[in-house]
Formats: sequence, structure tokens, C-alpha cells
Amino acid sequence: MSDPIRQRPLVVASNRLPVSLRWEEGALRTERSAGGLVAAVEGVAARSRLGEGGGFGFDWVGWPGAPVAEAQRDEVRSALAASRLHPVFLDAEDEALHYRGIANETLWPLFHYFADKSTFSAAAWQRYVEVNQRFTNAILAIAPEDARVWVHDFHLMLVPRMLREAREDLEISFFLHVPFPASEVYRLLPAREELLTGVLGADLIGFHTIDYARHFLTSCVRILGLEVAHDSVQFEGRRVEVGVHPIGIDVHRFDALLDSEAVATRLAELRTRYAGRRLVLGVERLDYTKGIAHKLRAFERLLERRADLRDQLTLLQVIVPSRLDSDEYAGLKRELEEHVGRINGRFGQPGNTPVEYLHRSLDPVELTALYRFADVGMVTPLRDGMNLVAQEYVLCQEPRERLGDACRGMLVLSEFAGAAHVLPRALLVNPWHVESTADALEAALAMAEEERRERIGAMAERVRGLECTAWAERFLARSAEANARNRRRSSIPLRGAEEQRLRECFARAPRRFLLLDYDGTLRELERTPLDARPDQALRELLRALARDERTQVHVVSGRRRRELERWLGDLGVHLSAEHGFASRPAGSAEWREPEGIDLSWLPAVDEVLARVCDEVPGTTLERKPSALAWHYRLADTEYGPWRARELLSELTTALARLPVEVIHGVRVVEVRAAGVHKGVYVARVVADAGPSDFILGIGDDRTDRDLFRALPEHAFAVHVGRGDEDARFRIESPARVRALLSRLLRPNQDAQPASQSR
Ligand code: UDP
Repeated sequence: MSDPIRQRPLVVASNRLPVSLRWEEGALRTERSAGGLVAAVEGVAARSRLGEGGGFGFDWVGWPGAPVAEAQRDEVRSALAASRLHPVFLDAEDEALHYRGIANETLWPLFHYFADKSTFSAAAWQRYVEVNQRFTNAILAIAPEDARVWVHDFHLMLVPRMLREAREDLEISFFLHVPFPASEVYRLLPAREELLTGVLGADLIGFHTIDYARHFLTSCVRILGLEVAHDSVQFEGRRVEVGVHPIGIDVHRFDALLDSEAVATRLAELRTRYAGRRLVLGVERLDYTKGIAHKLRAFERLLERRADLRDQLTLLQVIVPSRLDSDEYAGLKRELEEHVGRINGRFGQPGNTPVEYLHRSLDPVELTALYRFADVGMVTPLRDGMNLVAQEYVLCQEPRERLGDACRGMLVLSEFAGAAHVLPRALLVNPWHVESTADALEAALAMAEEERRERIGAMAERVRGLECTAWAERFLARSAEANARNRRRSSIPLRGAEEQRLRECFARAPRRFLLLDYDGTLRELERTPLDARPDQALRELLRALARDERTQVHVVSGRRRRELERWLGDLGVHLSAEHGFASRPAGSAEWREPEGIDLSWLPAVDEVLARVCDEVPGTTLERKPSALAWHYRLADTEYGPWRARELLSELTTALARLPVEVIHGVRVVEVRAAGVHKGVYVARVVADAGPSDFILGIGDDRTDRDLFRALPEHAFAVHVGRGDEDARFRIESPARVRALLSRLLRPNQDAQPASQSR
């Protein structure tokens, strides 16, 4: 595989920039923050730079994390520009509505299955949209042509689509760092459609676990009614890849810390301080998702059951301060402190405190030494996207000659953390089940050294494999592949120079063939098909085109003959009805049907489809002269496709020797006479066209694929909408199709400018 990362400039976007800002005596100081994502992308950049002699770097767009007064913004901007960091400033109201409102109070709880804590306000949502647009604008302002943009997390879920709408050259990927909940929970969200279509602007969407990916795909089916495969979603003419990419930790940083004198010294201190005791370690941010109260209950339960452990065991619970401005979090903190007090009151002795509690951040040396020293790492969140503490603990427990001691540690891990998917050799628990969590803690303490060594060894190897730079490299490589695939399949907008070329070909050609679908192509779709009659302007346009004897206009439709005849029969255009089954040349009043088509199978198939229609609510049977179609667009989004698959296999077997084709279209199963489709008609029309003849085929739906496929290489195949893999070009709407056709009549008028937005 070539190294796609080196080929294109990279822009990362996340809610927070990887720096913190401080003003000291009026001067601005910036400090890089540690963290897996920063290390991962820096690692990728550093490796690439090694190969390129310093030519590669990357840009980062994000919020500096603190309010910056208008007057100071230029100073901040230029201070950060040196590190290629690009701030998006949020004022107090943005912070309240976008960050605290939607991100922290709507999405965070809902994505972690705390639906009852999830609130939603229209004003906050409006601001979320605006702030996402501001991030998008900041990215667009700096992203060079063909750049790759990697968008992170639930704060910026609308950005991929906003980018895609503005710029087609970008490779866009999105990674969700939190869980994606089951579709039954996700669908509670008022803005559920917008967020899904927002991320579907990406070429690749990454999740930590197969569960989150599966939930996302199901939501795309159930909420948007999209077609999905196990690893992708079809959306607006593109294939959006959905992948499982569990993030890893900065392994090298921990290796270096474990090799440091500082950690060795701190370890020696811990050995003295906890001599004769065994240490259970908990490290989490203050958050209701972390299950700290449940953990305290399990620990308490173990002390109730095992009096002998009361003076041997310490739980050191580190709580990293978080969202201190929230009443909810302040309440949680109080509750936990009371619980700790209760346990110590019950089981403590002078000089013996069963639960030690720290409410502050630890420096890396202290944290690493604790990870190394603790007998049990107890990581029992109620929900957690990944949980890096679990990975860090396991890595620090790996046997190391320099630190010399026996393998003492074991990990007790919640099955509701993403980490459980990568560390199945931990003692997995359901934190809601207090008794069995206490059992697991007891088992961890009692585990023989050999088993610990074997389990920790296997888990540490896995953690090394997930190392964060390798994670980022793998993710970006997949994103490049997904984007390349979409580019290969994507069509070209028919504007500017492309339209100019088309018009020149038209003007020069001795003969011109216009093969035009009707509904959705010449005329906008209506809810009731009979309402989609042509207005006078459209009729005049077709008449004017057909008047030139060099030009043949063919309307190639799925409609019945009657409407086509009534609406377009007097315009001098050729008509093809019923998907190519019946045709009427210009100037003739007679419809022709192909000869020798065997339709004897129709009654039997009709019976089968009518039965399925009765069985599946919301489905309909469409009867056409040479085809039958079972439509399940309005059926249940899972039951419909399920019955369709069953029907397909039944029909394929039953009709194997009959002259029919069974086609699974978009929410329709169609059985039609073999050799009857728009392509057969079109092929006949253009059969003797030469390379200097002009051929234009335009259509909008899947029956037009047959039309496109029947066109010769030099023809212009144009899809109305977002593009189709069988059509080289695309055009936005029927209105634009009509405008294009009118310009064919006026050779000197300018083309639609290339830059015109949709
Ligand atoms: N951590 C830290 N300071 C501390 C304690 C923990 O920086 O005092 C780090 C820890 O090393 C880990 C991160 O915070 O990398 C917590 O990540 P995790 O995925 O476990 O939880 P999150 O806080 O992201 O929900």
C-alpha cells in the first residue's frame, strides 16, 4: 500500500485545540496538552516528516478552551499560527449553548444511555448549527485543495456535511470518541436526522467498537431509511465507509515514564507507604457515566463479606475535577464524598482508612507509579466510549526487568466500556450487579501470579498493537482509500467548461439525439403522479428543440402511454412509455410493442406479489403491461427489506427458466419481461449514430441506469441529483435541465458558471 498520509495536507478539527492559554503579567503563554489524539496525530506527522525531509505538517482547528476578548483575538491567533493551530473563538453564549447545552447536556448523556438526563432546546440547537458552521468556515479558510480533513467527536457532527457541500475536492473523515447508542435510544433525539446526515458527509466514519458501528448503521436504516451494508452506507451518490478503529494510548510516553528515575523513586515511596497492604486503584474524571458510586458499593460489599480484608485493603479513588460549574456534577461530588465517608466510618480503624480519595489531577509520574504499584485496577464505568485508564493500567503492569517485581496486577473492567472489546482477558463485570462486581474484585485479589502474568501479557500486547500513532495511520489510510473509491465513482457537475463543451458538440453535430426521462428530469416530482403535467414553457421548449430536423427528441419514461400522449403527443417528439415496452415515433399516432415478448408468467407472479402485499403492511403492487413491481418504501424499515430478500430468493428459484428478470431496486422488487427496459429502446435509437453525432441522455432514477448503460462511449450521460455511477455528469434539478436545454437553442448564451453553488 502506498503511503496516502504523505500525499496530501492534513487538517484536524476537534472541539478543543491541544493547548491551554494563560496570561501571565499581560503576556500570553500557551501550553501543549497531553492526550492520545495529540500524540497520535503528532506521531503521524513526525513519521511522515522523517520520510519527506521536513515537508509535511498539519493544521489543527479548534476552540482554545477559554473565552478570549475581542481585543486579544489577533494576538492569540498569531501566537498559535506558529504551531499551525487555528482558533475558533466561542463567546460566553456559544459556550453555554453549543458546548454546555447541546454537547454536554444533550448528546453526552444520550450517547451514554442517560436519556433521562438529556435535555434539548431549540435555541441551543440553533447555536450548535452555527458553531459547527463557524468551524467549517475556519477549516475551509485554511484547507488547501485536495486536503484531508479529519473531524473529531460529537461537538462537530454537522461539519462533515457542511464541508462536503462547500468543497468536493476534500477527503473528509469523522471519528466518534464516545459510544453511539442503540437506535432505540438514539431516536429519542429531536435533531436525530440532522446529526446523522451531518456525519454522512464524510468518506469514512470511525467508531471504537463494532457495537457502536452497528447501532449507527441501524439508525441510518430506521431513521433515514438508507441502504446500508455491514460496513457502509449509501448516501447521496457516495459510499460512506463505516469502520471499527479502537483508539490506543501513547505507549512510548508510558514506556519512557516507566524507565524514568522519577517513577522508580515514587514507586519506592509507595512500597513503604502501603507496606503490608494491597491497593485497588480507581482513576476517573468526575462524571455520572463513570460508575464511581457503583464501584464504591461493590468495594463496600466486599468488606462486608470479608472481615479479614478490612485492614489489608485500600481503595485509592482519584477523581479528576470536571465541569465544576455544573450543579449536577457538584451534587455528584458531594454524594461520592458522603459515600466514602460512610465506608470509612463503617470499616476504618485508627491508622487504617479503607477508601482514600483524591479530588485533583495527578502528574504523570505519580499516575504512572500508581498504575505500576496497584494490585487491582478497577475500571467500572456504566458507559464509556473507550476508557484509556484501563489500557494505561495494563501497559504499566507489563513485566519489566528494570522495575524487577513480580507481576502483581489485574484489571477489573466494565463490559460497558469500549475497552472491554480490546481487553477481553480482563475480569469483565456488569457494574450494575454489585454482588458480582465484588466477586470479581475478590477473584482479582486471589488470582495466582501465573494467571495474572499470562492475562496481563496478552492484554499489554494488545495495547501495544493499538498504539495511538499506528491507530491514526491506519484510520487515515482507510479514509484515503474510501475517498479514492468515491472519487473514482463520482460524477462531474455539468457546468462551466463542461457545459460549454457539450454545447459545442451539439452545435457541430450533423445529428442530435436527446434521450430524456420525464419525471424528476424534465419535470419536478409531485406527490400525485398525475399532477406532474408539463407547463406551457416545458411544452414549448420540447417543441422548439424538435423543430430542428437535425434533432431527435425522445422522452423515455416509465409512465403509461395515455399521459405521454395527452401531454406531449403533439410536440413532434418521440415517445417511449412503460420503461421501453411501448414506443410511438414522432408524427405517428400508433404505439408499437415489441413482438414475441412472452407475458404468460404475469398471472402467477401477480398472485405471489399480491400475497406478500397482504402480509406486509404499507406495501403496494404496481401492475404494468410487461412488469409487476412490489413497492415497500412505506413498510417497516427492517421488515420490508427482510421480506424483500425472502421474496427475491423465492422468485429467483421459481422463475429460473422463464423469460423474466427479477430486479431489486431502491425499496422495490420488480419482475419484468426479459429484454424490456429503457436501455433496449435507447440502444435501438442510437444504433447507427456515429462519433460525430451528438447524444445526450438525462435521467434521475434507477430505471435510467439502463438508459445510461445503453449509450455509446462518446455520449453525454447526465444524472439529475447527486450523481450516479453509470452517468459521467450530474445536474442539480429539473429546472437546471430545462435551463440547459433552452441554452442549446441559443448557442451564444453563456454557460452556467462553474462556481455557482447548489
Ligand atoms: N489522566 C490525567 N490526569 C489524571 C488522571 C488521569 O491526565 O490525574 C488521564 C489518563 O491518563 C487518561 C485520561 O486522563 O489518559 C482519561 O481518559 P479516559 O478515556 O479513561 O476517560 P475520559 O476522561 O476521556 O472520559
